[in-house]
Amino acid sequence: MRQDYIATIGLEVHCQVNTRSKMFCGCRTSFGQEPNTNVCPTCLGLPGSLPVLNKAAIEQTILAGLLLGCRTPEISKWDRKNYFYPDMPKNYQISQFDLPLCIGGSVPLYDHNYPKDYQKDIAHPGKKVGLTRIHLEEDVAKSTHLANASVIDFNRAGTPLMEIVSEPEIDTPEEAVAYLKTLQQILIYGKISDADMEKGQLRCDVNVSVRTPGQKELGVKIELKNMNSISAVRRALHYEIERQCDELDAGRPLEQATWRWNDTTGQTEIMRLKEDAHDYRYFPDPDLLPVRSGLIVDRMRQHVPELPHEKAARFESEYDVTLYDANVLVSDQTLADYFEVAAKASSAKPKKTANWVINTFLKHLNEESLSVAASPVSPERLAATVDLVEAGAVSNNQAKDLFEALWRSPGREPAELAKEMGFEPADTGAIEVIIEGVLAAHPDKVAEIRGGNEKLVNFLTGQVMKSSQGKANPKQVTDSIRAKLL
Ligand SMILES: [Zn+2]
Repeated sequence: MRQDYIATIGLEVHCQVNTRSKMFCGCRTSFGQEPNTNVCPTCLGLPGSLPVLNKAAIEQTILAGLLLGCRTPEISKWDRKNYFYPDMPKNYQISQFDLPLCIGGSVPLYDHNYPKDYQKDIAHPGKKVGLTRIHLEEDVAKSTHLANASVIDFNRAGTPLMEIVSEPEIDTPEEAVAYLKTLQQILIYGKISDADMEKGQLRCDVNVSVRTPGQKELGVKIELKNMNSISAVRRALHYEIERQCDELDAGRPLEQATWRWNDTTGQTEIMRLKEDAHDYRYFPDPDLLPVRSGLIVDRMRQHVPELPHEKAARFESEYDVTLYDANVLVSDQTLADYFEVAAKASSAKPKKTANWVINTFLKHLNEESLSVAASPVSPERLAATVDLVEAGAVSNNQAKDLFEALWRSPGREPAELAKEMGFEPADTGAIEVIIEGVLAAHPDKVAEIRGGNEKLVNFLTGQVMKSSQGKANPKQVTDSIRAKLL
């Protein structure tokens, strides 16, 4: 990032709301079905059709507002945003202009949602980015441009779409990444949206300007349209900020305009100058009554879930895991649930269970691109495996093989499988002989431990583990050495 300019970034996020039916008609919301199969006169925009409000979409939007600390004004209304475009044949989109459902609020930037290569340099840990508003509107149809024709699929037309507008308070491309990932995580936690960018459920427009440190007012705003992945947002912003600085350095003033990001060339391209910007001539939709949201707000307060940062704090205090572990565990709500079930089912310290979930379970899931729900090993069986290690029935190395076997043969019980695999509890008599041998071989260390240097017990335990070829239970070995020397 250039030091001689200050960048200012604002984001407009469009997010499809999880509802069974569309915003103003009874058609099903769907993804990936035969084109133009979930349509009716209303979502096709035919003359004479009338819109009917979808209560669930309003409830979900208000829930999003509650999760993000927004104000929810008593009255909210619907407006027509007028423009001509083939993907909106009634020539207006029903949206919200001056009375949106939610105002203000903020998105907290979770540290673990910054890009991995940037997490050591976070400029403002704990920063929150203010929101301007959240309003609800209908999605438009999807146009595809072929060689000799353009085709339109109306399945998407009328899908409830939330627009979440941030204040221009984002300073770097990395903060934009953290903003989008945290917003995505919170929307998924609230079950408000699946927020999958690849499926177009979350779309993002970026506003960015630069100015010199001495300049008070913001620089000329450039809008980047239709970003289709979070990593592309980061690349596009780095490119665009650099380009704007170069232009200003060369003495060429910037013009307010809309640009697009070309991920193939790695460059931004101009779409249109501000001169062709639309005047949408908003006016209240005469077919829809305003919404009085007080009762809905009261009802939705009961559906506010524990948010990721609240869950992480609870995991830290309740299960005594590190903040890093807690953040990994809460990154996905189903993973957090999996850990809690396993931790409660196991008699081991929750920290041990957390290590197994993060190092072994998550690794297996990632290797096979599986979701937590599709895991062949239940949390109870993971807990039983951890317990076998704790009880000294299997060694750490054996437990890794055991977990691998459980993964390949779903439904088997860990204890039963361990027996079949020939994992017997280590022969304590034989281990005791090894311990005696190790103590005899290190008289200097033994003397130091007796003199108070207890840390060296770990060294001797390591020697015993080596001699037993990993079969001994490290905790039992440590206990035995301590009993003999201290
Ligand atoms: Zn319809």
